[in-house]
Amino acid sequence: MQFLRDAIRTIPDYPKPGIAFRDISTLLGNPRAFRRAVDELVQPYAGARVEKVAGIEARGFILGGAIAHQLSCGFVPIRKKGKLPHQTVSISYALEYGTDEMEIHVDAVTPGEKVILVDDLIATGGTATAAVQLLQRLGAEVVAACFVIDLPELKGRAKIEALGVPVRTLVAFEGH
Ligand code: AMP
Repeated sequence: MQFLRDAIRTIPDYPKPGIAFRDISTLLGNPRAFRRAVDELVQPYAGARVEKVAGIEARGFILGGAIAHQLSCGFVPIRKKGKLPHQTVSISYALEYGTDEMEIHVDAVTPGEKVILVDDLIATGGTATAAVQLLQRLGAEVVAACFVIDLPELKGRAKIEALGVPVRTLVAFEGH
């Protein structure tokens, strides 16, 4: 996956000192890298029964939309509080400082539907854990959580696996 790794830009000290921001906009802007990332993420699920792809706002929408198209299934947005117009289910989750809330439409998935969760990156796993819990609360069977980037030092993968959800990642970076 060196090709994909090279397509990701690192911005040091963004959004604050000590954070190395892994910027996938360069990967998305590279036609071969974008296609390759989507193809690699869906490869284990091609031909499997999956009804929906759920993407986490905002970069998860870009990857998740492409993955849903590739798998010929529906797309479901998981958004920050107050953005979805219909009746929602919400969950609050811990950030480094304070908490945030994310929401899903109450009828976005039906009980028993098989769903793949998508975001660009897993760090501590707090965001993805909340998203999995929202989906499971609606009765979805979350068959996988897919990310282009893993930050293994932050041990997010184990949190998702502890919820019974297999994790697929393509590229790992050291540090935060
Ligand atoms: P976490 O909840 O700690 O797993 O953080 C994951 C979310 O924060 C994802 O939506 C990422 O897009 C974003 N994020 C966290 N750390 C980084 C980083 N170093 N570079 C880019 N995005 C990040």
